[in-house]
Amino acid sequence: PIVRLEDRTIAGFEALVRWDHPREGRLMPQDFLAIAEETGLIVDLGVYVMDRTARELEAWQAALDVDPPIFASVNVSSRQLIRHDLLHDVKTVLSRRRILPGTLKLEITESLVMENPEYAAQMLSRIRDLGAGFSLDDFGTGYSSLSYLKRLPLDQLKIDQSFVRDVLDDPDDAAIVRTILTLAQSLDLTVVAEGVETRGQRDFLALNGCRQFQGYLFGRPSPSMDDFTPLL
Ligand code: MN
Repeated sequence: PIVRLEDRTIAGFEALVRWDHPREGRLMPQDFLAIAEETGLIVDLGVYVMDRTARELEAWQAALDVDPPIFASVNVSSRQLIRHDLLHDVKTVLSRRRILPGTLKLEITESLVMENPEYAAQMLSRIRDLGAGFSLDDFGTGYSSLSYLKRLPLDQLKIDQSFVRDVLDDPDDAAIVRTILTLAQSLDLTVVAEGVETRGQRDFLALNGCRQFQGYLFGRPSPSMDDFTPLL
């Protein structure tokens, strides 16, 4: 869950994938995503995750009339982005589900965008026109070229957990986090802090203008969104 500071309500979700393997038990992404990338299966997996997420999001939005509406984010791999079919996949998923414009967000990383900035900018604009939103994941850990912040149709930045972890002890991390928050505010982007595990981290982030939080302090990953109903 991604939780709002002011009233502790859920702003949205990030979909995380697990594989319940018949013999190996529950596998984490680091156990199978590299192989999925290598074999190309990441493409089908990506579509599955997107559709499954959109399905849950549809149910939530039907049940809850809140403003702003609940959103859900899915991670996109470079393999998915370089394939032209991503456009088609998003279109298919969105046409099947009744969800509000911009509330299905694709999380992309800086390095993914920088592989081919011109192409990415074009592709993202077209996907945006279909009704999807975009969140820039792991912000600050990649190439950090600031020019694409204005060229890409983004609506959200995610502060990477590597900056959040030591934000109270490391003055450099603190400075970076403050700068990201100021930058995002000036560009009219919402910010989600990732990996928030302590009240101290939360308080620092809140004091510097962060309003949305993700991490163990606010909730753990769960198989179904229903598990979070008490938090609404
Ligand atoms: Mn992510």
